[in-house]
Amino acid sequence: MPIRARLTLWNMLLLGMVLVTFSALFYFMLSLTLRKEVDRTLRERADQVYAGIGSGIVRRLPEIDVFSSPSIFIQVISPEGSPLVRSENLGQDQQLPVSPEIIQAMQQGQSTYSTFNLANGADLRVYSHPIVIRGQTSKGTIERQVLGAIMVGQPLTDVELILNRVLFFLIGGTVTAMALASLLGAVSAWAALRPIDAISRTAERIITAQDLNQRLPRVKTGDEVARLTNTINAMLERLNNFFQAQVRLSADVSHELRTPLTTIRGNVDLLRRGTAIDPAELEESLTIIDGELDRMERIVNDLLLLSQADAGMSLRMRTVELDTLVLDVYRQARSIADGVNLQLGHEDQAIIQGDPDRLKQLLLNLVHNALKHTPAGGCVTLSLYRDHDWVRVSVADTGSGIAPEDLPHIFDRFYRARGQHHKGTGLGLAIAQWIAEEHGGQITVESKVDEGSTFTAWLPLDQDPNRTRPVASRG
Ligand code: ADP
Repeated sequence: MPIRARLTLWNMLLLGMVLVTFSALFYFMLSLTLRKEVDRTLRERADQVYAGIGSGIVRRLPEIDVFSSPSIFIQVISPEGSPLVRSENLGQDQQLPVSPEIIQAMQQGQSTYSTFNLANGADLRVYSHPIVIRGQTSKGTIERQVLGAIMVGQPLTDVELILNRVLFFLIGGTVTAMALASLLGAVSAWAALRPIDAISRTAERIITAQDLNQRLPRVKTGDEVARLTNTINAMLERLNNFFQAQVRLSADVSHELRTPLTTIRGNVDLLRRGTAIDPAELEESLTIIDGELDRMERIVNDLLLLSQADAGMSLRMRTVELDTLVLDVYRQARSIADGVNLQLGHEDQAIIQGDPDRLKQLLLNLVHNALKHTPAGGCVTLSLYRDHDWVRVSVADTGSGIAPEDLPHIFDRFYRARGQHHKGTGLGLAIAQWIAEEHGGQITVESKVDEGSTFTAWLPLDQDPNRTRPVASRG
C-alpha cells in the first residue's frame, strides 16, 4: 500500500477512535444526567404531594391536579394497588401501571422507581412513595400502617428525543469529521510526498541516462525531504568524482605504461635487427630495457598497493621503535644519496603502534623524493620529534621546492609537477599519505621554490580515534 494511503488511513483511524470514544462517553454521561434529573423531579413531586396530604388521607384525597403538569402524571393507589385518585391529565380511562414490585415495596413502606414500556413504544418512569402513618395500638405499641402510595410518572419521550438528536449529531459529526480529515490528510500527504516522487523520477532518469552529472532539483523547505535531496546530491557528487577519478586513473595508467613499453619495444627491435653488434651497445640496450622494466614493475606494484588500499586493506599493526626505523631508512637511503648530504637531525625516541613495512615505505618515499629534487651538494635532513600526543618524522631538503600552484595536488595519484625532468610515477606521495592516514595521522608539507621543502609525517603516539588531526600547513 502506498505511504500516502497508509498515512491517510492511519489518520482516519486515529481520529475515528478519538471521536467515537469521546461521543460514546458524552452520550452515556448525558443520558445518565437526564435520567437522574427525571428521577429527581419525580421524587420532588411525590414529596410535595405527600406533604399536601399529611395524615389527611384518612379523611380526604388530595387535589393532586395542583401538582401535576402536562407531562407529569400523579395517582394515589390503595394498599391493594387499585387507583384511588388520578390526575386529570391521565384522562378518564387511563391509569399509571402498578406492578407487583410497586405493591411489594409499598407494603414494606419503601419507595421505588420503575420503568414501564408503553404500548406506543415510549418508556414511562414511575416513582412510588408509600403513605404510612404510625399509630398506637390498644396494647400501647407503636404500629406502622400503610394507607396506600403516591405514584408520580413521567414519559421519557423528551429525554429520548434529546438523546436521539444528540446521537444523530454525534454520528453525523463523526462521519463528517472523518470524511474531512481523510480528504485533508490525503491532500497534505500528497503535497508532502510529491518531492519524493520527483526524487525517484530524477534518480530513474540518472540511471537510464547513465549521467552522474545530473542533480536533483533543490528543495528549499528545510525539512526531511530537503535533507534527503541534499544527501542524495552529495552522494551523486562523490560518485561522480569517484567515477571521473577512475576514468582518469585508467587513462593515466595506460599512458604511464605506454612510454616504457615503447622504449622496450624500440630496444628489442634494435637487438633483433642485430644492429647492435658492439657489446657496449648491446649492454646499453639491455640496461635501458632493464630500467624500463623496473619502472613498470614499480608502477604496477604501487598501483596494486593503492587498489588494495581502496579495497580497504588493513595494516598489520604491532609495536614499532620509530627511531630505529628512521635509522634504518637513513642507512638504506645513504647508498643512493649521490652527492647529496643526507644527515640525521633531531632524534627523539618513540614507540608507536604501526605497520613497520608500510612506515618504512612511507619514509623511503619521502627521502627518495627529497634526494631526487635536491641537487648535488644540497642537504637532506631526517629528524624525529616526540611531542605530547604526536610523533613527527620530518624530511627537510634544500632542493628545488614546490610551486604554490602544484602544492595542493602533489598528493594526488599520478600528479607530477610541471617542468619535472625527473622520471617519477606520481604515486609515491599518494601512497605515503594513505599509509599515514591508516595510522591515524597525516603528512603535511611546507615548501618554498628554490629554497627547499619539508615533508612531515605526523603519527599518533596511541591509537585514539577521537584525537584531532594536525592541520595541514602548506606553502
Ligand atoms: P613522483 O614519483 O613523481 O615523485 P610523488 O607522488 O612522490 O611522485 O610526488 C609528486 C610530485 O611532488 C613530484 O612529481 C614532485 O613534483 C613533487 N615533489 C615531491 N617531493 C618533492 C620534494 N622533496 N621537492 C620538490 N618537489 C617534490
